[in-house]
Amino acid sequence: MTERHTPRVVPLIDQRSASLLTPAAALAPKTRIAATGLLSDTLGRPLRDLRISVTDRCNFRCNYCMPKEIFDKDYSYLPHGDLLSFEEITRIAKVFVAHGVQKIRLTGGEPLLRKNIELLIEQLAALRTVEGRPLDLTLTTNGSLLARKARALKAAGLQRVTVSLDGLDDAVFRSMNDVDFPVADVLAGIEAARDAGLGPIKINMVVKRGTNEHEILPMARHFKGSGIVLRFIEYMDVGATNGWRMNEVLPSADVVKLIHAELPLVQLDPSSPGETAERWGYADASGQHDKAAGEIGVISSVTQAFCGDCNRARLSTEGKLYLCLFAAQGYDLRSLVRAKESDTDLASAVGHIWQGRTDRYSELRSAMAPDGGTGVRRVEMSYIGG
Ligand code: SAM
Ligand code: SF4
Ligand code: SF4
Repeated sequence: MTERHTPRVVPLIDQRSASLLTPAAALAPKTRIAATGLLSDTLGRPLRDLRISVTDRCNFRCNYCMPKEIFDKDYSYLPHGDLLSFEEITRIAKVFVAHGVQKIRLTGGEPLLRKNIELLIEQLAALRTVEGRPLDLTLTTNGSLLARKARALKAAGLQRVTVSLDGLDDAVFRSMNDVDFPVADVLAGIEAARDAGLGPIKINMVVKRGTNEHEILPMARHFKGSGIVLRFIEYMDVGATNGWRMNEVLPSADVVKLIHAELPLVQLDPSSPGETAERWGYADASGQHDKAAGEIGVISSVTQAFCGDCNRARLSTEGKLYLCLFAAQGYDLRSLVRAKESDTDLASAVGHIWQGRTDRYSELRSAMAPDGGTGVRRVEMSYIGG
């Protein structure tokens, strides 16, 4: 089955150049917010998870993320000087960790395309949470470079990886990455990650109705009992270029039903607060969770919003802070870092921004216009990171 190519709407304004102002109070000594690890937003949600996009480039052209027609040879990626350096990323990450972040995920674009990414991982692995523990340090990758890089990533201090894989059938996979990349190379990358000790490994499969739903069962059979957790993600309306349509979303409930009919499942408790995936374990003959057979996860961003627990912030490649995956604009932290503001000032700015956070796009989606009612278009997932 091949991807359907629908006409795209090209955004007129490049939202990467727009940014929100840091609240004026943030830098005023009187209203300074210190990093205590106890920050929460207007809906009482803490700050626990930071996703850092290290590049806006990718060697794949997944139709749901970086469609070829938009991300072609004329597309203007960010110039190198606009990217945060590893030292700048680490400095910002340190401030977030002081505010309570426990988990950092490197993403992109394709994070393994960023030169010397191991050096950044080494710096981040040295950070400690407010309680003095190492961070949960992970990375999401399309797996294309994993076979080559897994050992170096582990040696640098990366704990685990999530690999995106949308099917096992080579023709389906090649057509979904749209650069004719063979599935065997990604499977070899997953094995290399396992051999290097980058576990527990998770696999993300974006399900697009009419494109790869026939891959759901083969994927479930393949990873059952492997110690690898397969997660099915509903195709989302991120960005403004993927031509998203609701009728291409296969609800997670249907995925669970389909798998359950062949491989019985039992629902499991969430592993941590703010967990995005609903967990389902493979059942044994008595209907109990068979731990050796493992589990799957479903991420229902479209049909079942989970904004109430959302404790995630996103730092774009050029240092803008986004409070929601569906945000149209971010706060420019790079200018604060390059203006040589102190760590205390930076922490205060982040504190004010998070305290003012009201975002809950998925909960409001059905009532909103595609531009979120703001009149500006959302940034792309390849820029902000997944
Ligand atoms: N290139 C890396 C990769 O593909 O794993 C990291 C970046 S990618 C933007 C992060 C995750 O977002 C991937 O698992 C990808 O499948 C997912 N993603 C991208 N566009 C999506 C969409 N429209 N709906 C749901 N998930 C999407
Ligand atoms: Fe690249 Fe990942 Fe987006 Fe696919 S999902 S185009 S691999 S950034
Ligand atoms: Fe979090 Fe925004 Fe997703 Fe809601 S829509 S879960 S606030 S990222």
